[in-house]
Amino acid sequence: MTVANSLNKIIYADNAATTKIDDDALALMFDLQRNFFANPSAAYKLSRPLKKILKESREKIASCINAEPQEIIFTSGGTESDNWAIKSAVLAHLSEHPNIITSAIEHKAILNSCAAIEKLGCTVTKLTVDKFGEVNPADLQKKILPQTKIISVMLANNEVGTIQPVKSLAEIAHTSGKTFHTDAVQAVGHIPIDVKTLGIDMLSASAHKFNGSKGIGFLYVRDGLKIAPYIDGGGQEFSRRAGTENVPAIAAMALALEKNCRDMEKNAQKLSACTKILLNCLQSNGVDFISNGGENRLPGHLSLSFKDCDGETLLHRLDLKNICVATGSACNSKQTEISHVLQALKVPGDYIRGTIRITFGKENSCDDAKTIGNHLGIVGKVMK
Ligand code: PLP
Repeated sequence: MTVANSLNKIIYADNAATTKIDDDALALMFDLQRNFFANPSAAYKLSRPLKKILKESREKIASCINAEPQEIIFTSGGTESDNWAIKSAVLAHLSEHPNIITSAIEHKAILNSCAAIEKLGCTVTKLTVDKFGEVNPADLQKKILPQTKIISVMLANNEVGTIQPVKSLAEIAHTSGKTFHTDAVQAVGHIPIDVKTLGIDMLSASAHKFNGSKGIGFLYVRDGLKIAPYIDGGGQEFSRRAGTENVPAIAAMALALEKNCRDMEKNAQKLSACTKILLNCLQSNGVDFISNGGENRLPGHLSLSFKDCDGETLLHRLDLKNICVATGSACNSKQTEISHVLQALKVPGDYIRGTIRITFGKENSCDDAKTIGNHLGIVGKVMK
């Protein structure tokens, strides 16, 4: 059986981990890879179309988040963008023992960037969240120090889908003259984002989370904000991020984002219908579970904790039925760690180990939701 054939039988519901690349984006990427292979920085005419594609891709992406084209800097993805935002803010100020404020439920790309610079003498303040995973803006106000250099709070959480009050947080940051960064890796292409209205100074994004390719993303940097290059080398990306541009992946990212933004409302409606169907199935089967995160969540995103169950086992039972979901815990060879996000939300002890994450994407149908709901309805009860 080929991989493509076996994929037809699978229900993929782990879109927060990665999404399937959009067909048109993939076709464009192949075409450019094969037929437009020149280096966009070269001076001959073969390079001219590539320069144009880069320019147009930057314009398309900028318009999707209401930014200016020169504010979009292509990177290798979310992890690089997050590392760059955090480290650039403090590395030039190490002698002042700078402070960073972030939240307790960030992705490891932020938390481990903070941990790395903590070793160099910086301090890191982690804002706590309520039971829905929301940061309280008043809490941020109290925690800002004179030596705080950057405040970084994610737009939407990757485990529970909670959307943060980023506009209020950015306003507070600016009142104190601080820079505000948001990790919007889970949000871009899924919910409307206007960087000007939200008051964001820097924003991280990753194409593979919105039906683009893996290994490509961008960092939005507001005009006028000075940030040191993170990758040194040639003069690409306005001398801010060196390395020959991956034009096929960049063009595919722009197309995927444009399509997702165009269809955002329609997709969101379908995704919300999927989550409702699944929750109804569980309720009508009498399963004892908690749905984590509040009302203000990413569409199609479910973090469910089943009473007295084990998330790993649930995942494997669903995998046997060709259903792909994620757990709410990270496994290592010795033990199953409970995720820092679920701990921060204080999910009750008899539910927390039985957590799985189901994230629907634009490829999913309501039938997928029914199938998952019915299987979970059976396993969720049997496992107790
Ligand atoms: N930030 C968040 C919130 C994420 O969910 C992820 C990926 O899971 C990343 C950052 C890292 O992105 P990438 O896989 O593009 O490095």
